[in-house]
Amino acid sequence: MREVRIKDSFTGELRTLSSDEEIGIYACGPTVCSLIHIGNARPFVVFSLLARFLKSEGYRAKLVVNVTDINDRIYAAARQAGEPSAEFAKRMTRAYFEDTDRLGLGRPDAEPLATETIDGIVALIADLIESEHAYESGGDVYFRVRSFDGYGKLSNRRAEEMDQGEEAGSESLKEDPLDFALWKAHKEDEDTSWDSPWGSGRPGWHIECSAMAEAELGPSFAIHGGGSDLVFPHHENEIAQSEAAGRPFARVWMHNGMIETDAEKMSKSEGNIFQLSEALDRYGREAVVDYLISGRYRQPLAFDAEQMEQAATRVERLRNFLREHPPAGDGAAPEDEFVATRREGFRGALADDFNTPRAMAEAFELVAEANRRQLPGAPEALRGMLALVGLESLARAEQGAGAEAEGLLAERQQARAARDFERADEIRDRLAELGWEVRDSAGAARLVRRC
Ligand SMILES: [Zn+2]
Repeated sequence: MREVRIKDSFTGELRTLSSDEEIGIYACGPTVCSLIHIGNARPFVVFSLLARFLKSEGYRAKLVVNVTDINDRIYAAARQAGEPSAEFAKRMTRAYFEDTDRLGLGRPDAEPLATETIDGIVALIADLIESEHAYESGGDVYFRVRSFDGYGKLSNRRAEEMDQGEEAGSESLKEDPLDFALWKAHKEDEDTSWDSPWGSGRPGWHIECSAMAEAELGPSFAIHGGGSDLVFPHHENEIAQSEAAGRPFARVWMHNGMIETDAEKMSKSEGNIFQLSEALDRYGREAVVDYLISGRYRQPLAFDAEQMEQAATRVERLRNFLREHPPAGDGAAPEDEFVATRREGFRGALADDFNTPRAMAEAFELVAEANRRQLPGAPEALRGMLALVGLESLARAEQGAGAEAEGLLAERQQARAARDFERADEIRDRLAELGWEVRDSAGAARLVRRC
């Protein structure tokens, strides 16, 4: 078992993960108010692969990615869609599962929903009222920010720089403008509500995550992750609520950088490739995963069609190499030392604050050297490396798809040409059941074996 270190975004220090306890990872998942985009896929990929790597090293890791299915933005989006909010949230949750399934990384160990954690949320709020860190006001419940000494310690903000970003109208109910809502009384224009000791209403966003993390991982756990846009107020408020209620909460904070798009460039690229399902259609899962691990997880990552084309070219280079170097049988020559060094470098990079670009550089160095000279063991080592970062499907031989799949693909092309996208999607799903992924590229579609 290798020593794994992660840079804590709270203290800025590298922290070594403990090898003799469960590594609980809680990563904030999407608010299901729209289809998910590449930006939502980044934490999903980073934390899924981190958990995969830790497990491969022999750690007991448990990854929890929640679904925020109660939120102001969901009510607003459902109204706009002319759909009851509960149905809208369910539909968007299903779409999130389907889109992330297509990344081929498996599911997190637990995926709690806010709507299924109401009891835990209510219990945590009751604890906070009991200890006077929270108060009821007009059917709402607010967290008393100035009662918690450490407030602002994660985001390093002064009180005057803090805006909870809450809807207008709640100011008169708050003791202090800094306070934030834990529970909101039911409003006329909201079509769902839950019972609580403070009357009918719904939880605030921040308390949902505190309660879901505790329900799955207990009062203290190893890593809390999420996008860097969540540091304030979301994560600051999670810390305040949980610690004020006597829970030690997360030991290490790990934030992924944002995906940055250039609006002008994006409008020139055909279709909406920022949407995850579109990017998967156009470039395939391997290119999407490779793109998302092509930068340090903590840094921002530029996104446009050119970046995706480059990722697609990189994964084709790997696929071609593996195609030309099928697995060696028994009696193969012993592994070259160069190969062992690259493999060690690959794992070492992942253990060093999950440095995926350095790890992938080791993989590409291995390919480049193996193309120059006979390098026994290189294809086997490369397969092992790629399996760690979710690219194992590149090693799978592609065979002919067969008449049924080819026929369906032709039918899908006709449906798309006739703009019958519903039918085209049905056919894509049927092909997925048969084990084929459709890749649309440059006006043509082809079938690729799903992992
Ligand atoms: Zn959260």
